[in-house]
Amino acid sequence: MKSKYDVLVIGGGPAGALAAKTAVEKGLTACLVEKRPAIGVPIRCAEGIGKEALAEFMEPDPRWISADMDGAGIVAPDGFEMTLESSMAGGKVGYILDRKVFDRELVWQAAEAGAEVYVKTRASAPLVHDGRVKGAQIESCGTTTRVSAEVVIAADGVESKFGKWCGIDTTVPVREIMSSVQYVMADIDINPRATIFYLGNEVAPEGYLWVFPKGKRTANVGIGISGKKSGKGHRAKDYLDRFVKQKFPHGKTIECIVGGVSVCRPLECTVADGLILAGDAARVVDPLTGGGIYNAMYTGKLAATVAADCIAKGDTSKKALMAYDREWRASKMGKGIERNYLIKEYLIKQSDEKLNTIVHSVSKLDLKEFSTLTLVKELLKANPKLLVELGALAASLR
Ligand SMILES: Cc1cc2nc3c(=O)[nH]c(=O)nc-3n(C[C@H](O)[C@H](O)[C@H](O)COP(=O)(O)OP(=O)(O)OC[C@H]3O[C@@H](n4cnc5c(N)ncnc54)[C@H](O)[C@@H]3O)c2cc1C
Repeated sequence: MKSKYDVLVIGGGPAGALAAKTAVEKGLTACLVEKRPAIGVPIRCAEGIGKEALAEFMEPDPRWISADMDGAGIVAPDGFEMTLESSMAGGKVGYILDRKVFDRELVWQAAEAGAEVYVKTRASAPLVHDGRVKGAQIESCGTTTRVSAEVVIAADGVESKFGKWCGIDTTVPVREIMSSVQYVMADIDINPRATIFYLGNEVAPEGYLWVFPKGKRTANVGIGISGKKSGKGHRAKDYLDRFVKQKFPHGKTIECIVGGVSVCRPLECTVADGLILAGDAARVVDPLTGGGIYNAMYTGKLAATVAADCIAKGDTSKKALMAYDREWRASKMGKGIERNYLIKEYLIKQSDEKLNTIVHSVSKLDLKEFSTLTLVKELLKANPKLLVELGALAASLR
């Protein structure tokens, strides 16, 4: 490892991989450090991604796609299931990835493009000079190295500490951390081509439970509930075990993962002098779905693009790096996060009766398109009374 790079990337998830790859493609020197001994494991993800979203970055490859989805179902608290067909999405819906392979592929691409990659290597403190981030202290197998960089891209995920060490408030309120548990289950009866979401205060309070197929009789079966709803006897695992016992009594659990997902608004500011935060570290997960793979890739790529521009101009101050913050907020992703935050805040306050009414009502809509925006717009058309209840959200859609 050298002692100086143009860009130092902390974290080898999708955000870090895209940042490192983009940086070297822009002609910069880049080093990516990942604290875990291997990229992609352990997985902390249900692995779902939209086909169109993925296509922005790469061609699908069977090596890292577990299953092809052409529909989705939403199950109301009363058991009623509404289905969304791929015809509403022009034949495109989503994939369930194999992230163990996918994340490796992304980092491999960064390495092939020329980035240096170090695993079992962690950033343990920022190097700060005159109030600006100048690099990081890096620890690897008992060795400590001071690595300086023109720009540090902190892509250190939901457990991100680097931003906080640099003075950015990255705290997520407990109620906005989804406590999640997921089993990879085998030998279960599922629809192998549709993702199913279960709603309800008894099923997954202030969250949802999912069944994402990984094969004909295998699926990621998981749950996320609000951190504030979690407690003795009603932890996420308790809800998931109850569901599994009832729905898949003969299924076999071959893997179990736990993790947190932030469903808050993004950080108020995602840059500082010499520093950019990307992906989960910037809290840019979709607050409604908990999906963050695309957002991580998008912000990772953008972070390196802006870093390259700023380095070329010789100005990596917070003011100059703000171009990154402004661009992602104004993007489709940024606007979607704000809208979905408002939808999530509305939905988590609803009773089971109200959730039943909403799901039944959506099932009667003649949806031409498969998106949250269309869904809400059509729902509002069919239920004008909702305009008042949805307040700011409804206003933002006009
Ligand atoms: C249960 C669960 C289900 C999910 N399901 C989905 C889904 O279906 N679809 C979807 O789109 N998203 C899903 N997500 C969210 C998705 O996994 C994340 O949004 C995505 O991985 C974010 O990518 P990232 O690169 O920002 O962070 P990560 O993928 O978390 O990568 C961050 C990396 O940084 C490393 N790191 C941390 N600190 C340091 C340090 N100091 N030094 C060096 N390395 C460090 C970590 O080890 C980690 O590898 C889910 C999350 C959970 C928990």
